[in-house]
Amino acid sequence: MSSEALSTTPSFAVDAAREGSVTVAPMAGAARRVFIENFGCQMNDYDVERMVEVLRRNGFERTDEAEGADLIVINTCSIREKAEHKAASAAGRYKPLKDKNPALVVAIGGCVAQQEGDALLRKIPVADLTFGPDQIPRLAEHVRRINDPGSTAAATGSAPVSPRSTAIPNRYRLRLAKTEVTDVEDYAFLTADPRPGDVSVTALVTIQKGCDNYCAYCVVPNTRGCEVSRPAEEVRVEVERFIALGAREITLIGQNVNAYHAIGTPDGDDFAELLRRINDVPGLMRLRYTTSHPHYFSRKVADAFRDCDKLCPWLHLPVQAGSSSVLSRMAREYTREQYLEKIEYLRQVCPDISLSTDIIVGYPGETEQDFAQTLSLLETVRYDSIYSFAYSRRPGTPAIDLPDDVLADEKSRRLSTVLALQKTITAERLGRMVGRIEPILIEGFARMGTAQLCGRTAGNHTVNIRCEGHEPAALQSLIGQLVPVRITESKIHTLVGLLAS
Ligand code: SF4
Repeated sequence: MSSEALSTTPSFAVDAAREGSVTVAPMAGAARRVFIENFGCQMNDYDVERMVEVLRRNGFERTDEAEGADLIVINTCSIREKAEHKAASAAGRYKPLKDKNPALVVAIGGCVAQQEGDALLRKIPVADLTFGPDQIPRLAEHVRRINDPGSTAAATGSAPVSPRSTAIPNRYRLRLAKTEVTDVEDYAFLTADPRPGDVSVTALVTIQKGCDNYCAYCVVPNTRGCEVSRPAEEVRVEVERFIALGAREITLIGQNVNAYHAIGTPDGDDFAELLRRINDVPGLMRLRYTTSHPHYFSRKVADAFRDCDKLCPWLHLPVQAGSSSVLSRMAREYTREQYLEKIEYLRQVCPDISLSTDIIVGYPGETEQDFAQTLSLLETVRYDSIYSFAYSRRPGTPAIDLPDDVLADEKSRRLSTVLALQKTITAERLGRMVGRIEPILIEGFARMGTAQLCGRTAGNHTVNIRCEGHEPAALQSLIGQLVPVRITESKIHTLVGLLAS
């Protein structure tokens, strides 16, 4: 499906209307600057990296300052409430910059842009472009077309974007809503193209896009399209590329990684096979993945925690609710009992695994008894951490037709109850680490400066490591290394440690 809009509203550029056209002063040889404000999940983090690479190949450099940027991208997420409002208020912040520099292009990407398309252009006058995730490979082409609407080369997409001396047309400006979704059979994954020096110790590698499930509350099938699995060889090559450039930990990402199916194993358990193949990549120290769907989480995938030495003992397995009747209304395809059986098996093969989950409270029809089952499930599983939300309706989801019958005050009460319970469980789970010596993959200096390093345990707990008495240069050399650290203290969500050697 294609959506494209050419605005015929008078230009916002007063100078352009008065003088016929505005020519921005040329910056000979200078790269154009892109500022990106990103919301949301790891898929959005990954998309931002690919946007930067696509734009860099077309003459842009990323900047941390919106002021002076030639292109501002707001990458939206529609999982949380008021996503559209957040996009609008982010765009509003950049209006003064656009008033000062009419050549500035404001683009809105991500799930809200995909869902709303040209409706978002109507609601957010400062925006020039809305584009969905499948349009990232053509982002530079769309920006060029906005800057230079008469350019036919731009429409073909092969030429680099024009230099900064762009003429803005008189009175009118081109505004584009680009929300075409690539057909499954034609979908090609953008290959990561990081520069040496841009790769951190941990890197994300996508193994699939989209989702074929229709969980009743979820917008993803609408915003990211059907599930496509990336060829295993492509995944392996990309992992190798990140390792060669300095990454030591790889997280494989997808909306439902357990549904990965690009290998064709006889038992159909391709994700377990992919884990084994990636586990063998030389130089890789740690491997993680997210997100898993409990329905597809097989024993073979659980066994990989025992059999793959680099696969970290950490799993995010979203349960959403503890009541089978709520799970059924959510169309989650598993019961409470089936979920707990999977956790029990997992703990048999990997006793020290750290678990995290997502919880929705106040889903339509959730009774007090249903909610009590969520609390009892938290007590039973004892997650290291959870992400919890009060249900709110999302346009375009099947659940929009269900009566939103749990009152807002009651949702807040249930959310507070969940958070209070989990706080005690997290304290207990983190507390068990105190006194242990844990191998920590050092990711960099902690926020407080060069006296502390930070990294994570295999179980994905953040550790701030006190390093008094060590030279900064010696500490710098530890980044990217697995280092023994004595855990001395647990805080609300993090651990504190000391270098053990
Ligand atoms: S599995 Fe369900 S919750 Fe996860 S992305 Fe797919 S539809 Fe959304």
